[in-house]
Parts: sequence; C-alpha cells; structure tokens
Amino acid sequence: MDRKWSQRAEELDGRNPLRRFRQEFEITDQKLIYLDGNSLGRLTLRGHSNLRDAIQEDWGNGLVSSWGKWIDLPSRLGRKIAKLIGAKPHEVIVCDSTSVNLYKLVHAALRARPERTKIVTDRTNFPSDLYVLQGLTNPEDLSQVEGGPSAQFDLALGPETNLLCLTHTLFKSGAVYDMKALTAKAQAAGAWTLWDLSHSVGALPVNLNDAGAELAIGCTYKYLNGGPGAPAFLYVREDLITTLRNPIQGWFGADRAFDFELDYTPRPGIERFQAGTPNILSMIPVEAGVDLLLEAGMEEIRSVSLQMTDFFIEMADEVLTPLGFEVVTPRAHALRGSHVSLRHQDALAIDLALINDAKVIPDFRSPDNLRFGITPLYTTFAELAEAVSRIENIVSRKSFEKYRAVKPAVT
Ligand SMILES: *Cc1c(COP(=O)(O)O)cnc(C)c1O
Repeated sequence: MDRKWSQRAEELDGRNPLRRFRQEFEITDQKLIYLDGNSLGRLTLRGHSNLRDAIQEDWGNGLVSSWGKWIDLPSRLGRKIAKLIGAKPHEVIVCDSTSVNLYKLVHAALRARPERTKIVTDRTNFPSDLYVLQGLTNPEDLSQVEGGPSAQFDLALGPETNLLCLTHTLFKSGAVYDMKALTAKAQAAGAWTLWDLSHSVGALPVNLNDAGAELAIGCTYKYLNGGPGAPAFLYVREDLITTLRNPIQGWFGADRAFDFELDYTPRPGIERFQAGTPNILSMIPVEAGVDLLLEAGMEEIRSVSLQMTDFFIEMADEVLTPLGFEVVTPRAHALRGSHVSLRHQDALAIDLALINDAKVIPDFRSPDNLRFGITPLYTTFAELAEAVSRIENIVSRKSFEKYRAVKPAVT
C-alpha cells in the first residue's frame, strides 16, 4: 500500500486530542488491531483494578455488609449514563440485559395505552429486538418496515400505533436515524418512541430529552467497555415513570423492599424498573468505562470518530474497492455511527483470515458484511492504515480462500 497513508496516519495520531486515553486500556499485544469495540469493548485498567478490589475487599472481606456500598450502584451508573445520552439523572437506571429491558418497556407501554395495540419497527433492527417485539404482539399488530435512511415510517404510523421502536445506529450498516425528526413524526400520530442506543451510546452524542423521546434502552459492553454480559440501561422520560408498570415485579423494583411487605407497591422513581438483585460485579467495570467517556467528552470523541471513519473510508475507496469491496456505511456525517461496514462476496472467509492470519479483528455480519468498529479512546489512525494494508494483502493474494468452508459458532 502507498506510504502516503501511513504517513498521514502518523500525522493524524500526532494531533489526536484523545491520544492519552489509549494507556487507560489493557493492551497486551500491540500488534493486534482490535476493530471490534462495537461488539465487545476493551478492558479498562481502572475497571480491572476496581473489579479486583471489589472481589477481594468488598466481597471477600466485607461480605454482606458491603451491600451498603453497592446498593446505589445501579442508580449512580444511571445518573452517569444519563449525561452520555442527554437525559435527566433520575430518568436512567442500569439493570438486566438490553433484551429484557426492551421487553419490560414495551410491555409497560402496551399496558399503559391498551387502545393502541400496534408497534412499528424495521427489518434492519437487531434480531433480538425483533424477536422480543414478535413475542409481545400479534403478527397483525407488528409492522416491520424496510429500514435504512430512506425508510418510510410515516406510512405505517396511525391512530392505533403505540410505539415506534428503532435501533438508533443500525448494527449492520452503521447508519444512524434522525432521532428528533422521527420522534416528532411518531408523536404527530400520538405514538411514543423507543430507541435502542446499543450502537450509539459512547459512540456519538445522543440527546433523548432534546428529541422528546419517551423510552430508550442500550447496552454497556460495546462502546462503554463494561465487559461481557455487563448489565444494560433503560431510560423513561420523567413524566411517564409513574405511568408505566414494570411487568417483572421483583423486589428491587418494590418500595421499601426490606420491609418484606407481601403486596407489591412500585418504587416511586426509575428504580421501579429493576427486577431482582443487581449484577454488582458486572457493573463495576461499566462505571470505569463510563467515567473515561465522560472525561474525554462525547463531542471530542465524535469529532475524532468522524475523522477516523473518514480516513478509513477514504482508504477503502482507493485501496479496497478495486478488490471487490463496497462501502456500505453512509458518507454523510449525520447519518454515520462509529463503525464502517464493507460488503464483499467473500466477507466471512476474509474475516476469518484477518483474525487467524493477520491479527486484525473486525467482525462479520451475515450475509456479506465486514464491520470495522472505531473506538477513538483506543483506536489509532496508524492501526487503521495498517489494517487496510493487511486486508489488501489477504485479498490480493487470495490467501483467505482456505476459509471458504469454515462456519464459526460466534462471529
Ligand atoms: C448488542 C445489542 C443488543 C444486546 O442485547 P442483550 O440483551 O444485552 O444481549 C441489543 N440490541 C442491539 C441493537 C444491540 O446492538
């Protein structure tokens, strides 16, 4: 590959205002180019050491008395995540998985307005979200519109629509919906919106309050670097908190749980959306990840992310398009998240060759998408240039062909 790219990368890294954050992460192999932070974020050093302390001191030594220290963690984390997504501190809580939170909020919305039975979503949504919606509705009540930036949601919204339920940044293409415009459209039909922020939180600034959005959920193990299976968050606009009922009426959502009353009364605030005992150990690295993002600032992160995705797309256009790749991610900044998707007919075999033979970790999304996640807190421009050069090598020499017959369990 032309030397000009690595020279430009060096220059861009030199003036990257976020450069110092890379040393906050556990990076054991400097040659490994990790471009899958949109699937599983890296381990933060602070998260690692806080987790060790929590195990040794709080659990090991403190035992049950450490609950005094832990009990507020879901709300405290909610208050911090609220700053990343333009919400008020008392509108967000960390609990359960994204799928479970989706179930809880959709169920609550359907129950709050039973005369509105219909839900509108799109076919580019994350399959788990579609499965949950399919489980909560009758087939005739679920409109699954063709998705993407030109999707026509207006046609599907009507007087019986309860919710417009979308993933803000699409998991395959990396395209981003206009949250404010679509929330307004839904509201014009009397519908609420529910935004899945899994690929947006920590990747780009989000402003739920500014959009007037009613409900949201999101994951913490991608751009928030919370670790595998770390609990998710949910958001409910403040005026709706007491209107909605959590369908999983566990004791952590109950008022004065430790009075052990036999009849359920929900807690007055956002805490009512918890179910059972919070996953304390899994939440500890989430806090470290969120603190780093708050220190760096989402505006700065967005600006570097766009420079990085621009740089990657520019290289892809020049070096990879002649080798059969096509850039799927939108070119307009407003429509782009923080990963770049390239389509190639041999995407899976190339993905496996990159991982096994070239120390580049992207991921593959069926049928022909290779995703390259860009996480400005630890990705460097030099890594992006080197990754493109390694892809060029693998594809121009056809050394990926031996992987054509392989079907891995997790991509
Ligand atoms: C990653 C992701 C999820 C994850 O759901 P879990 O229940 O936490 O496994 C959900 N929705 C979207 C859009 C995602 O990208």
